[in-house]
Amino acid sequence: MLETPIEYLKGVGDQRASLLRSELQVTNFQDLLHLFPTRYIDRTQYYKIQELKETSAEVQIIGRIIHLKTVEGKNKAQQRLVATFTDGTATMELIWFRPSQWLKDHLLLNIPYVVFGKCSLFAGCFSMPHPEMETLEEHQRHFLSKIQPVYPSTEKLSKRGITQKVIRKLIENIFQEEGKNFLETLPKEMLLPLHLLSKGEALFQVHFPQSQELLSKALFRLKLEELFYIQLQLIQKNYLNKKLKGFPFKKVGDYFNTFYHEHLPFPLTNAQKRVIKEIRSDMGTGAQMNRLLQGDVGAGKTIVALLSMLLALDNGYQACLMAPTEILAQQHFQGIASLLAKTHIPIALLTGSTKTKERRTILEQLESGYLQIVIGTHALLEDKVKFRNLGLAIIDEQHRFGVEQRSKLWHKNLLPPHILIMSATPIPRTLAMSLYGDLDISVIDELPPGRKPIKTIHQYDGQRGKIYQFLHNEIEKGRQVYVVYPLIEESEALSFKNLTEGYEQLCNAFPAPKYTIAMVHGQLKPEEKEAQMQLFVEGKAQIMVATTVIEVGVNVPNASVMLIESAERFGLSQLHQLRGRVGRGAEQSYCILITDVKLSSDSRTRMETMVSTNDGFQIAEVDLKLRGPGDLMGKQQSGVLALKIADLVKDNQLLKIARDYASDLIRIDPELTDPAHRNVARTLDLLRKNKGIWNFIS
Ligand code: ADP
Ligand code: MG
Repeated sequence: MLETPIEYLKGVGDQRASLLRSELQVTNFQDLLHLFPTRYIDRTQYYKIQELKETSAEVQIIGRIIHLKTVEGKNKAQQRLVATFTDGTATMELIWFRPSQWLKDHLLLNIPYVVFGKCSLFAGCFSMPHPEMETLEEHQRHFLSKIQPVYPSTEKLSKRGITQKVIRKLIENIFQEEGKNFLETLPKEMLLPLHLLSKGEALFQVHFPQSQELLSKALFRLKLEELFYIQLQLIQKNYLNKKLKGFPFKKVGDYFNTFYHEHLPFPLTNAQKRVIKEIRSDMGTGAQMNRLLQGDVGAGKTIVALLSMLLALDNGYQACLMAPTEILAQQHFQGIASLLAKTHIPIALLTGSTKTKERRTILEQLESGYLQIVIGTHALLEDKVKFRNLGLAIIDEQHRFGVEQRSKLWHKNLLPPHILIMSATPIPRTLAMSLYGDLDISVIDELPPGRKPIKTIHQYDGQRGKIYQFLHNEIEKGRQVYVVYPLIEESEALSFKNLTEGYEQLCNAFPAPKYTIAMVHGQLKPEEKEAQMQLFVEGKAQIMVATTVIEVGVNVPNASVMLIESAERFGLSQLHQLRGRVGRGAEQSYCILITDVKLSSDSRTRMETMVSTNDGFQIAEVDLKLRGPGDLMGKQQSGVLALKIADLVKDNQLLKIARDYASDLIRIDPELTDPAHRNVARTLDLLRKNKGIWNFIS
């Protein structure tokens, strides 16, 4: 049974189950099977140490550990475990920073191991930090596939021991328990002429590819299926012409008017005014609003969100705003609370770290309807959270939420609330329309007045001295600086090393007590994170060092420099998002991109694009072009385009095929009542049920 809750899978206990749920939105077997790899590593090749080059990517080597030593640092945190590793052609080092006792006890000398990872060259010696490794014997026994999938992961997961290896093992367990005869979900009309793999075979091959060819076939089928069902829903809905009923917000009342006339902190831009009008008339029709609000970073979406919420209040409904991280929710809460300060409208913040007692009060007040506005994270989605009458749900930067997660929010409503999705990721309209034909779009295409365009420069690693001097000058003028390191998806250890090394380097260049440097990363507890953020927000820290993109999604107008380390590791839209964190005040702001001297041509184009334009839409267009076929980077999707496996740009051809088959099917069997299409009808139903009301935004 693929609906079996994930905790019943061999190898998953309560603790792992709750992690899988919160970090990957995996709740049952089915979800785990649909956790698709973001990329694959070719492990058909074995390298000799002698053949390694400074530029080698990930390599796999067979050899033995001949010596092990622990190197102490200034403190426990700097301890390293160093193994001398040889394969007969040469020796290299395997290095673990902050090694666990378990590791120290379990590494064996003089036993053949297969190690896998990225190497770096230092003083003539290659070293591999935090290798993935197993004994040769294990390797030969376990190895199901030489083309190894890399799954999406988070810092928290790998920290708690749910590594790539563990995820692979868990998926293997499902196939062992369930076999691979899963119900077929595509109609015969497609399977036969397109020579598609069966559902079960495709799922198996995508996780354990037996060859490149089978992998391609599996991907083809699964992507096609995903696109087919999206098209099918859309085409069927249009065909049957169902528009969902929604709450008619007829009134513009005191809440809106008082705020608008007495408490607006600045005059709205024309774009903001236009967008609010669009939202207002959309919510007044009696049909449910499904609207995407696009606006570049810094365009001023928050105030639009607030005014929309006030319209809900005017009509006797509650409103909520959901943000993807604790820090963003905090920031929204503080911002909106201060905007509302003079209005006495009760508002609350609900996140994972809200204390029990406070949480209880909030839950009661939401259910009774006393609380009219709540801001929070995915904690809002929990079953315990019940609204009296939720009329509007706003979702900020929705790409961080899983589709299934979101639907929970409005299960209990009789009618679905109006939905407003705010996104800073510009989606070219043509593309959005081809997929989400009936999703309405509002665009804030004008920045608030008085902004100076951000100056962007690209520099190489070696120029750091000059760059630090520049930072000194800016800080001297009273400005603040962000320094961001990439999050290396598959290795939390490497990300952490990058970050801490960078932090130490900065501490040397900007010594205490004159300077304070805040640091935020995934290993911090929420309170610690919050304390560090607060240092920066209050201006007590001049520099904020961070890994993840979203964690810095805060509004500190005094920050004038965004320094991005290893900028080549970021996608264009991420870079643009990061840059948007500065340039919010009246001062001239800068974005400095630091990269290695060696750059791929795509990376170079990305840097050049960033340097040459500040326009999000233009950047999105380049992004789309760059992400054409053959791109080996992990797919980075965002916004409403967040599909599970297909990529709208690369798989544009597939989209056309899917659409043709879907419209043929609806033409011959609009309600899918023909018994031959029972599997399709059921899949569609399930999809709608699982996605709940959320389904109706697309
Ligand atoms: P985003 O669209 O990225 O969410 P915000 O809503 O956070 O942007 O707004 C960015 C900054 O611009 C905030 O400091 C906000 O107060 C300010 N702002 C928004 N609208 C205006 C406006 N019309 N005039 C002046 N400042 C504005
Ligand atoms: Mg925002």
